[in-house]
This record gives sequence, structure tokens and C-alpha cells, in this order.
Amino acid sequence: MDVINPANNRKIGEVQEFTEEMVHDTVGTLEKGFAGWSGCSPAARSRILFKAAEIVRQEKDRLASILTAEQGKPLHEAGNEILGAAAVMEFYASIAGTISGRTLPRADYGYAFTKKSPLGVCGAIIPWNMPALIMAWKVCPALVTGNTVILKTASATPLTNIGIADALFSAGLPRDALAVVTGNGSIAGAAIARDERIRHLSFTGSVDTGGRIARMIDPGRTRLTLELGGSDPMIVCGDADMDRAVAGAISGRFFNCGQTCAAVKRLFVAESIADKFVSRLRAGAESLVVGDGAVEGMQMGPLSSASGLKDMESFVQSVGDHGKIIAGGSRLGGPGNFYRPTLVLDPEPKSRLLTEEVFGPVLPIMRFGNLDEAIDMANDSKFGLGVSIWTKDLDAAYEAVERIDSGIIWINRHLRIPPEVPFGGTKDSGIGRENGLDALEQYLTEKTVILTP
Ligand code: NAD
Repeated sequence: MDVINPANNRKIGEVQEFTEEMVHDTVGTLEKGFAGWSGCSPAARSRILFKAAEIVRQEKDRLASILTAEQGKPLHEAGNEILGAAAVMEFYASIAGTISGRTLPRADYGYAFTKKSPLGVCGAIIPWNMPALIMAWKVCPALVTGNTVILKTASATPLTNIGIADALFSAGLPRDALAVVTGNGSIAGAAIARDERIRHLSFTGSVDTGGRIARMIDPGRTRLTLELGGSDPMIVCGDADMDRAVAGAISGRFFNCGQTCAAVKRLFVAESIADKFVSRLRAGAESLVVGDGAVEGMQMGPLSSASGLKDMESFVQSVGDHGKIIAGGSRLGGPGNFYRPTLVLDPEPKSRLLTEEVFGPVLPIMRFGNLDEAIDMANDSKFGLGVSIWTKDLDAAYEAVERIDSGIIWINRHLRIPPEVPFGGTKDSGIGRENGLDALEQYLTEKTVILTP
């Protein structure tokens, strides 16, 4: 299977296309490896994860150029993602020894205690937009709790994941504790989802594929975590710090060429500051340097695929006369999948830009009169991944936290997800939480022991 650079559509590598049978055999190997890996002490697992993080940090530049070449993001973003993956490894390495059960004293029968154990072989199926970070979010908590893992890379971005797996193996992870599976989702991914030996499956990707996977698994045997799409609102109140909010909207929307699950995808700005805010936003969007992410100084790369580029064209065409394109609105010339940073002012309330997930650099902007209106617009979505509110008013922030149905709420920022915070969505954005201590429970089963002397 070819790996293509989206900045020029040239082939940069080749990977194995896993068949159903190969996936089946791989799960068998990981099942055998489970006894050895789950038998390792937490301290040994911790050492391996710390060592792997050190290797990843040392290899940052090399891994970042692989990520940029196969995914398109600018080198500095790729480097930060690689460091983010190392930070997740370090977080889970640092808490390995704290995983424990509870003691429940009762005089009438003695006492009971609970013992936490790993599940067995766990599956991880990931997308192409943040392959290094999302791999770390899934693989680290699964491994640190003693599970073995089969990771299905996105077909577009297998090389970064292979590079990170190599770091884990070089750090001492047994070869039968982790397997990286490359190939098609409908073949290799589906084979993982259908395999009854997989005890937990963590999927990140689109709502459609997530729904398909939920129907494929046997819920009696396989636990499921779904991290799906989002259409995150950003609410800018009249008293917001204008400089910070403009910068937050630019990075929140155009970071990773707009291809981030929790990117700013709907912008709501208070009527009282809308003209000034929008004119500054427009200047910021138009000044972004767009091009091959491998070239120093680029601020936005190409869309990861030609189909992503077509999606942006279709979204912008759908605006018609029901909104005003005030920046961008077209592709850039040349062989890559480049689209200009685009702003659409006042689209109609039922516009596809507001009801669907726009996975690229196109931002709809709506004005609001009061906070109630903004909160209603924010909640008017099938998604519930993230939201940000920009204000100095504690009451307004409190109101948003209480009333917006969303997995994560940022106040005066958007998109930062440090390793210790739980992350996941409500509504169509998913089931379960990743990251932080919350992720550990998904990879553990509890045995209750009742001891009567
Ligand atoms: P996708 O659903 O097309 O693919 C995701 C993964 O599923 C890939 O590895 C793919 O090969 C595999 N797959 C495809 N069909 C399959 C099938 N029938 N059975 C099993 N596996 C299958 O998603 P994508 O285009 O790679 O990623 C973009 C989506 O991911 C966006 O919707 C984005 O919001 C979402 N996302 C969510 C989060 C989050 O944490 N909530 C993070 C990043 C991306």
C-alpha cells in the first residue's frame, strides 16, 4: 500500500496491506504475549515507557519529518505532536505503580478487597489527523495496565506510528506486547472489530465508522470507547480579551489545516464587538503562510487527502447567497491539496457549515445578542466534544459550564489537552473518556475477594 505526501501527491513509502487472516494471526500472537507482559512488574512497565519517551524526544526531528511528509502539517506542529506523545508516555509511566484496588472492611464476614487486573488483548483503531498523539492516548494506558495491544493505523499515516512503535521496542517492550497493523479500514480495521478475542476496543474517527464498529462488536465480550467527531463552538463575549480571542480563533481553526476533532468549527461572537473582531480575524486568516509543511516558516499545510479538498469546495459552494465569504474560499494552485484559510460570515442557521463537521480550514461566524442566545446556538448540534467561552465575567463562564452539553469546556483558550485531563465527548461525539487517570479503568477488570477468617 502506497503512502502519499499530500503536499505534492508523491509516493513516499510503502506498507503492508494486512488481510483478515494476518490480523487473526496477529491477535493470536498478542494473546500468547499477554502472560509475559501482564506478569511484568508495574515498575518494569514504567521503565520501558520512560525509556521510550526519551527515545521519542531524541528522535523528535526525524519523527516530525515523517509525520509532516505523510500528513502535511507544518514541521513545528509535527514536532509538538511528537513531544505531546512523549509526554503522554511519561504521564502513564509515572503512575504505573499507583494502580490498585480497594479494601472494604466488614466485621460480620471479615473483609473484602478488590484486585485490578488487565483484560487481555486490546484493540486501537486511529485516524490520520493526529496519529502520534492518538496512538499514545490509546497504547500507553493499555500497556501500563498490562494489556497487549493491536493498533490499526490510518491508511494515510502508518509511518509515524511504526516509528513510535520502534521506540517502544527499542526501550524493551516485548515484540508480542504490541502490533502495528497497516492497511484498509474495511478489511484490517473490521477484522479487529469483529475479533471476539479483543477485550477492549478504542476507536477514534468519524461518527459513521464509529457507528459501524459499534454494530460489529459483541458488547458482551468487547468493551468499547468511541472518540468521534466534533463541531466545537467558540463563544466570544463582548468583554473578551480581543488579542487572545483572535489568536485563539486562528490557531483553534487553522491549526493542523482545520483537521482536528476539537478544532473551533463554529464561531459565535457578541454583536457589540463583532465588526472589530471579524476584521482582525480576517486579517489574521489572510496573513497565514500556506504551503508544504516541510518548508521552514509554513503556518498551514495541505489537507491530508484530495477528498478532504473536495469536501471544502463542496462546503463553500453550499453557502450560496446565504452567507458572505470574507476570506479565502478557494484552493491554491499547484499539485498538493491546499485550500485557503476561509471565513464565512452569517451563514443561515441550518447551513451544512453549522450542522455537519467541517474537517478543514473553513470557519462559519455567527453573531449573538446575549449569552442565552449563544448557549442555545452552541447546544444546537448533534456533537458535544468541546467548547470554549472567552470572557472576563465569571458568571458568564459559570453559566456556560452549567448549560453547554459538551465533554470539555475551555475558558479563555481552546484546544489544549494535557496528558492528565480526561478527554471525550457527549451526544454523537462518543462514549467513554481517554487521557488522564480516567483512561486506566477501561483497561482493567476488577476481581472482588471476600475473606472470612
Ligand atoms: P475514519 O472513521 O474514516 O477512519 C478512522 C479509522 O477507522 C482509520 O484507521 C480507518 O482505516 C478505520 N476504518 C475505516 N473503516 C473501518 C471499518 N469499516 N471498520 C473498522 N475500521 C475502519 O476517520 P478519519 O477520516 O481517519 O478521521 C477523521 C475523524 O476522526 C473526524 O470525524 C474527527 O473529528 C475524528 N477524530 C476524533 C477525535 C476525538 O478524540 N474525538 C480525535 C481525532 C479525530
